Parts: sequence; C-alpha cells; structure tokens
Amino acid sequence: MKILFRSTNREVPEATFKEVIFKGQPEDYGLYMPVFIPSLRRDEIEMFRQKSYTDIATDIIRRFTADEIPLSKLEQMVLDAYNFDVPLQRVHNGFYLLWLTKGPTASFKDFAARILARMMEYFAKEEGRKITVLVATSGDTGGAVASAFYNLENVRVVVLFPYKEVTERQRRQMTTLGGNISAVAVDGKFDDCQAIVKISFNDGALQHLSLTSANSINFGRLLPQMVYYFYAYSRLDAEDVVFSVPSGNFGNLMGGVFAKRMGLPVRRFVVAVNENDEFPNFLQTGNYQPVVPSKECSSNAMNVGHPSNLARLVDLYGGHLTDERDKATGKVIRKGVLKVAPDMERMRNDFVSYSVSEEEVDEVIVRFYKRYGVLVEPHGAVGIKAAEKSGEEPPLVSLETADPAKFPEKIRGLLGIEPPIPPSLAGLDNKKESFEFIGNDYEEFKRYLLNKNFV
Ligand SMILES: *Cc1c(COP(=O)(O)O)cnc(C)c1O
Repeated sequence: MKILFRSTNREVPEATFKEVIFKGQPEDYGLYMPVFIPSLRRDEIEMFRQKSYTDIATDIIRRFTADEIPLSKLEQMVLDAYNFDVPLQRVHNGFYLLWLTKGPTASFKDFAARILARMMEYFAKEEGRKITVLVATSGDTGGAVASAFYNLENVRVVVLFPYKEVTERQRRQMTTLGGNISAVAVDGKFDDCQAIVKISFNDGALQHLSLTSANSINFGRLLPQMVYYFYAYSRLDAEDVVFSVPSGNFGNLMGGVFAKRMGLPVRRFVVAVNENDEFPNFLQTGNYQPVVPSKECSSNAMNVGHPSNLARLVDLYGGHLTDERDKATGKVIRKGVLKVAPDMERMRNDFVSYSVSEEEVDEVIVRFYKRYGVLVEPHGAVGIKAAEKSGEEPPLVSLETADPAKFPEKIRGLLGIEPPIPPSLAGLDNKKESFEFIGNDYEEFKRYLLNKNFV
C-alpha cells in the first residue's frame, strides 16, 4: 500500500514518499504529513523483543516505503546505516537512559542522517541525476549529515554554519572530510544560515544544482527516529512506558509521537526543553507564543524559540499552526499563528512539558556523575531533570542525545575531569580543516555556489 503525504497547510497536492524526500518542504511552506499512519498489532510489537535493532528498523521503515524502495535494498541501507550500538542503561529503579550517541558523529542526528543519505542516493541514482543538499546547522546536524553523505556518488553537500556559535569539535566534524562535502562558515547566527538556505531553494538561477534539504522539516529525517522508541520498549519488561525527550525543533519527539500512533504503548511523553519555554507555556495556557530571540543555553542544539516540527504535532491533534507570510514574497510576517486550536485536552493527556534551567542542568550533571558514576551532557541533563519534575511512574526512559565529549568545557568546569573521547571523535582534533568564510550575505553565497566545481 502506498502512503501519500499532504501538507499541514493543505494548499498543495499530495506527494509520494520520493517526492517528499527530494522536496523536503512543500511549496506552501507547510510540512509533509502521511495521510495514513500504519498501525502495528500488539503481537507484532511484542515480537520485537526477539529482534535486533536493524530488523526492527527495517520493519518500521518499510511500512512507509513499501512501494518505493525494494525490501532487499532497504535491508541493506539499514544494515549499512546502523553499524553501532544503542545501549539502554538502567540507572536506578525504573529509570533508564537510552544512549543515542554511539554513531559516527556522536549525536542522535546520526540515526536520521544515515538513512536519509542512503535513500537520497538511491532515488538520485534511480533518476540518473546528481543532487545538492544544502543544510544549515546550529551544531550537530551539519556533522551528522556531512558524515552520512560522505563519498556518495550522486549527492553533494554544502553545510552552512554560524562561525562563532559552533564548538571546535562540531566545526571539525564538518570541515575535515572534503570530497563531496563542502563547509561554509557564515559571519552570522544560525537563523541567518537558515535564511540563506531558504532563499537558495527559491532562486531559479540555482535550479540546475537540484537543491534539496536535509533539515528536520524533511519527513525522511523523522521516519528513522520512530525506530528507537520501539526498540527501547522491546528491551523493557513492561506494559507501557514514559519517554523523556530533550527537544529543540521537536523532530526527535515527533518520531516518538508517530510511534505511539502506530500502536506503541507510550503512557506519556515528557517534552523536555531548556529555557526556551514556549511549549510548556502553550500546553498550560493554550496560547502559543514563540520565544524571540531564542535564549542561549549550554544545550545549544535546543536553543529554539519556535520549533519547526510543532506544526506537525498540532496537526496530529486536529489543529493548524502556520507562519503568516507575505503572499507575494513569501517572507514571514508573524511566526507561529494558531489558525485552528488543537484538542488541548488530548494533548495534555499525552504530554507533560517542563523547562529546565542552567543551574538545574549543572546539578544533574554533577549528581549523576557522583551518585551513579554516569557522565551525561547538557541535552541529556535537560531530559533527566524534566523526567524527575514530571513525577511519572516508572518505567521512564530518558534519551541522551549527544556524547559528553562534545562538551568538554562544560564537563571540565563542573567535574574537573576530561570526558573520555569515544572512537567516533578520536583523531578529529588533528585533522586538516578546509572551509569557505563568507559574510552574512546571500549574494556572496550564491557566487560561491555558482563558481564551485562540484566533484
Ligand atoms: C538536535 C538535537 C536535539 C534536539 O532535537 P530536535 O529533534 O531538534 O528536537 C537534542 N540534542 C542534541 C544533542 C541534538 O543534536
């Protein structure tokens, strides 16, 4: 059965999975949603207890791609993509940490990027064309995408990052590969990088490059993120489970929400946010107010004041959230306008949400290390603290989304120790870097792209 996708703004025709992967975002600036969500029977979910991560991944993903990617191809993609562990660690009583940090760039972004890369390569080859992925990053996405797409034949990648806002190791993950991966440092903020990417997509003079996006607006990023929720549940001996999800753009959370809609017995999601507290406020009041400008916290991948995937969440609960745009130019006039309210009662039943302060993050990092000997980093600490605040009954699974070695300054400052470097980050500090530095200026970026001789 073929699953089609519609836009949350409902102003464009339905699209196939392949179109959704290539386009990323529909022309009406909405987000693609499956018109039908496949469901699993309880006994199918119970069977996962005997299956490997890769078998579960193939089983979940194929339900959305059945007609468009042959099963044997998908199996191969999944085996190539997930050649690392996904540990579920019991910390105390019914409290667990799911370590989504063992991939090649040591953040959970690897789970999505590694499948998306293989799907794009497959579809590009099928169509006999080369495509160019543009991606703006605030830190981890750039490295994960660069690593996942490295050395593919039919896809090249240009990563834009805010020069002053990424850590040295995050930058090195993007700038030391070369080949089909190009890195551009922008003298601006993450939002400026994202704005440059958006203008590029609508620039006819760049059409010959077949530009596409690997940001989390792409449904191809969400699909692989449903899998580890099924996997974690399959490794617990429990009727149901609560997940605490450290959230920025809500892509990770949406993976879980789709899993629940597919039948996974999730009692509740704890939506864990840093000091960017628009979502807990919304859940409480029913009024949506983006945080502008977003607040800068040490969990830098979650410094988001207006989560791009919130439109999907609201849509799933019967509402309509969209940005108000100038009809002629497409420029955003007002961010995050709630045109139709979602079913708040049902949302409050499925989600609780807590904002976690910097002091609370520090306290968790110190306490987890001293009491349990478990080293966590700021994003994971936000998840843990929110889980604690929720007072939910066990079993509780909190997601750890990055390796502490990505935040050595923080760990050193709080604990006076050097976080152990995982194999995935080893050698990075000595590799040769190469990147272009540009001003915060679209024309400069366009000249760079047009002059570039892509390999
Ligand atoms: C991207 C990221 C997040 C936030 O995930 P979203 O899908 O944007 O909500 C959390 N932690 C880390 C380490 C990340 O890189």
